[in-house]
Amino acid sequence: MNDPEANGHHKLLNTSQYRAAVALARAIIPQGRRLPGAGVRAVEASERLAEEMSAGGAMLFRQLVSLLDWLAVVQTGSRFQKLGPVQREEVLRTWDRSALMRWPLFVLAGLFKSTHFDHKEVYDAYDVEYDKGGPAEKVRWVSQVHSGDDWDPGEIVECDVVVVGTGPGGAIVGKELAEQGHAVVFVEEGRLYRRDAFKGSVLTAHEKFYRGQAKVASWGNTMVPVLMGRLVGGSTAINTGTCFRTPDWILDQWCEDMGTDELAPDRLRPHFERVERALQIGPNEDKIIGPIGDIVARGCEQLGWSHFKVNRNAPDCDAQSCCDFGCPSGARLSMDVTYIPMALERGALLFTETKATRVWIENGRAVGIEARTVVRDHKIHIRAQAVVLAGGAIPTPVLLQEQGICNLSGQVGRNLSLHPGAAVSGLFDEVIEGYKKIPQAVGIDQFHRQGILLLGAQGGLNFAPHMFPYCGQRLTDVMDNYDRITTMGVLVKDATQNGRVRPGLGGEPLLTYWLQPEDLEKMHRGMVHIMEVFRAAGARKLYPLGHRMPVIETDADFERFRKRRVGPTEIMWTSFHPLGTSRMGANPYTSVVGFDHETHDVKGLYVVDGSTVPGPTAVNPQLTIMAMADRAAKRIGEKLD
Ligand SMILES: Cc1cc2nc3c(=O)[nH]c(=O)nc-3n(C[C@H](O)[C@H](O)[C@H](O)COP(=O)(O)OP(=O)(O)OC[C@H]3O[C@@H](n4cnc5c(N)ncnc54)[C@H](O)[C@@H]3O)c2cc1C
Repeated sequence: MNDPEANGHHKLLNTSQYRAAVALARAIIPQGRRLPGAGVRAVEASERLAEEMSAGGAMLFRQLVSLLDWLAVVQTGSRFQKLGPVQREEVLRTWDRSALMRWPLFVLAGLFKSTHFDHKEVYDAYDVEYDKGGPAEKVRWVSQVHSGDDWDPGEIVECDVVVVGTGPGGAIVGKELAEQGHAVVFVEEGRLYRRDAFKGSVLTAHEKFYRGQAKVASWGNTMVPVLMGRLVGGSTAINTGTCFRTPDWILDQWCEDMGTDELAPDRLRPHFERVERALQIGPNEDKIIGPIGDIVARGCEQLGWSHFKVNRNAPDCDAQSCCDFGCPSGARLSMDVTYIPMALERGALLFTETKATRVWIENGRAVGIEARTVVRDHKIHIRAQAVVLAGGAIPTPVLLQEQGICNLSGQVGRNLSLHPGAAVSGLFDEVIEGYKKIPQAVGIDQFHRQGILLLGAQGGLNFAPHMFPYCGQRLTDVMDNYDRITTMGVLVKDATQNGRVRPGLGGEPLLTYWLQPEDLEKMHRGMVHIMEVFRAAGARKLYPLGHRMPVIETDADFERFRKRRVGPTEIMWTSFHPLGTSRMGANPYTSVVGFDHETHDVKGLYVVDGSTVPGPTAVNPQLTIMAMADRAAKRIGEKLD
């Protein structure tokens, strides 16, 4: 055992806690045939990470280590650090089976997994390049980007349109209006990152590029992490690049519900086409799909099911396989490499690290915004003829509610849908090495009209261990064979839009969302369908990715899984697609914005982002938001002088 005092890292944990932490790390991620085991390095990196997170993070780390060290006494009579390897594995298994004990173990294991796997040592073991960042691109438009802190707080910025947020909603509206000749100013809470920042690290990505360091979640009958970007380009700068048009049957349903034909398939088609051309959207090529393509094709063809290659906005993709942590080569045509630069080349300005805090209203009309800089907390005023809020489906309604505006209908922050997702992995005989290919390559749309979409979801080496909620030998077995494992995700069209966003403590959003029995039934069915495809394609083992879910090896195991019910807390849910929280409609008493995206209550104030998407899209929503933004830009432009 390393002496913590001697190696100079004895900061957060005392000597006994340090020894316990090293023992726990070794037991949670044991050395495998291929997988390097965790130990001192993971513990010391976790100490640093916990300290950086917050005082609360540091305290939690210390308490978890002490709690688990002493809890082993109940079972074995000895502290965890005093046990031999076999006993440690047994204790971990007992905790994993316990409804109460599995949570502290899960949290501590998550920390060790984060620090252990996001490292060159692990990547070398799998023959994968670790540090992927490309050189920072040299571009003229960077002169149009300012940190809000560099601006003189006393000076009022004047423009035609101020756009809050640089995701697909904001970037497209801003670029289109700049091209129409309007003076556009973007305000973005996050920073501008260039290619050299995107190195494929999940730790860096969550800390720097994600809203709330990727810890935003909804609460109800279970917890669902809700992921969003907070950087120039919004979530498109850290997303998977998958592009679906909104299905016609969804658009027809929205039009029927809203009593309009404004978003009818024929009327939205030209907007889809414009965006698809600009972002060069097309099907993935075989060379970046890899063996998951053969597996899905093989399984589906045996079952007679419809499958497809996913369309993406990455024509020259070189499969760096870390899309969700920022594209190192810039091959994915996200907003930060397309619409934002195009707008800036047309004279638009971009203030980064600047958070819009209030809409400036005079005589019932929006005339600008008040913003605060993220680093120095300077106040900035931007005066404009029109204000476009495009902060995304969670931040936009929070801003409106904090100011208490636009809520005559009582609908601001309501009608949240999450498009909840989960996944199943399969172990095959063939070498797959999905971590060298793109995560979302192919899909199965056989059950799409039932609200179940199955899409590739291959995790890179630093993310995969989080997808498998395993510890100890079970984790090592998976990771030793990870070159022959592939994963498909299930996305479920929400049965209801019962979710709600409210301003929470300390400026953090408070989200509630209740999964309905229909959502659970569809998720279970979707998981079973992936298993059927994988089985038909020759899978040896199946891993439904959930808490206390069995590994499936035999026909009898599969039948048991097929017949069982799943509870909301058993599944490892994630949401990448929050929508709907500033409802669109004709009636100011039941909706927040009209069909031209202007708020009913405050003239000159528009909302153009995921919050105005009328309902669940049943597909990944970025192209829907983009087409709606392209349409909104035309309407807003018509109203400007
Ligand atoms: C990891 C991940 C993977 C995804 N993969 C896909 C995919 O493959 N295909 C797909 O279709 N969809 C995908 N999505 C979803 C998609 O990216 C989002 O639906 C879409 O980007 C939402 O667009 P938006 O304009 O509403 O908000 P966002 O893209 O979230 O952009 C909003 C921006 O506004 C900024 N902002 C917020 N409030 C303020 C404020 N007050 N002041 C200043 N700035 C502010 C934020 O920092 C952010 O940069 C993914 C999402 C994630 C997180």
